[in-house]
Amino acid sequence: MGQDTIEGHCLCGAVQIALSSPSGHIEVCQCDMCRRWSGAFYPAVTGESFAITGEDAIGTYQSSEWAERAFCAKCGSGLWYRFLPTGKRSFLAGLFSDADNYPVEKEIFCDEAPVWCKLDSDHPRQTGAEVIAEARAAGFTFD
Ligand SMILES: [Zn+2]
Ligand SMILES: [Zn+2]
Repeated sequence: MGQDTIEGHCLCGAVQIALSSPSGHIEVCQCDMCRRWSGAFYPAVTGESFAITGEDAIGTYQSSEWAERAFCAKCGSGLWYRFLPTGKRSFLAGLFSDADNYPVEKEIFCDEAPVWCKLDSDHPRQTGAEVIAEARAAGFTFD
């Protein structure tokens, strides 16, 4: 808790990520795309800056007009989600053992969660429609 930098790595260790000034909490996305990608929900952790080693092992997949997802091409671990309009990335919290005690701060696309992904902790929730309406109000366009 309160660490300046947390260290993470993929399952095989080829990709290492150091995340500085981490958010200290998790934002969960329950959308259908995140579920196919990660196998369950996407637990996102963010930070002010990051350093990555093992770039040559990283594959990327553009999952929509507005987002790209990265993975380790050797072991298949998911690594991050990049929102293309801003370039901002969030990382899969499971890569970072140091994030094990981070609480869930927010859950989005909660209306798309299957029964077995429901979380009972007490935190703000937004439906997919609410998330998209908020993004549109902030000036992003989705087709
Ligand atoms: Zn790997
Ligand atoms: Zn999602």
